[in-house]
Amino acid sequence: MNECKTYPLATKFSIWEKVWAQGSFAAMGIAGTVGIILEDWIWVIPYAIIGGYGIPGIVMRHLTCPRCPHLYDYGDCLQAPPGMTRWLIKRRKTHPFSTAEKLLLFLIAVLIPGYPLYWLWSNKWLLIVFLISAVMWFSGQLLYFCKRCRVKQCPLNRARVRIQV
Ligand code: SF4
Repeated sequence: MNECKTYPLATKFSIWEKVWAQGSFAAMGIAGTVGIILEDWIWVIPYAIIGGYGIPGIVMRHLTCPRCPHLYDYGDCLQAPPGMTRWLIKRRKTHPFSTAEKLLLFLIAVLIPGYPLYWLWSNKWLLIVFLISAVMWFSGQLLYFCKRCRVKQCPLNRARVRIQV
C-alpha cells in the first residue's frame, strides 16, 4: 500500500543550510571549470554558458525563483543573496512549469555535473573534489531541501513523497 509522506515546509534557511547549498554548488562549479581549463581551455566556454548563464539567466530568472514563496513570502533564498535573486527575476510566476521549462531544468541539472567529467578523469584530485561537492549538493537537494521546498510547481519538488508501507 502506498502512503503519501509530507515534510515540514521550510520558510527561511539557516546559515548552515546556505553554507551547505551554496558552498557545495560553488565548489562543484570551480572544480569542474578548473579541470576543463587545465585539460583543454576552449571547452570551458560551453560550461561557462551552461552554468554561468544557465543558472542565473535561465533557472533563477525564468524557472524556479519566479515561483518561489521562500523569496516572495519569507524574503529569503537558499542559493544566493535574496536581493540578488530578486534582481535576477524577470517577473513573478504562479503557473505550472511548461514541458519546455521542465526539459530545460533537467538538461541544466544533468549538464552541470555531467559535462566536466570527460576532462576531470585525468586529474584525480580535482575529480575527487568535484564528485564530493556534486554528491553533497545533489543529495542535499533531493534528500533534504526539495522535501521541504515551497516551490510546488518545480518538477523536482519532493515535499509530498509516496512511500511504500
Ligand atoms: S530558494 Fe527560491 S529563490 Fe532561492 S534559489 Fe531556491 S527557488 Fe530560487
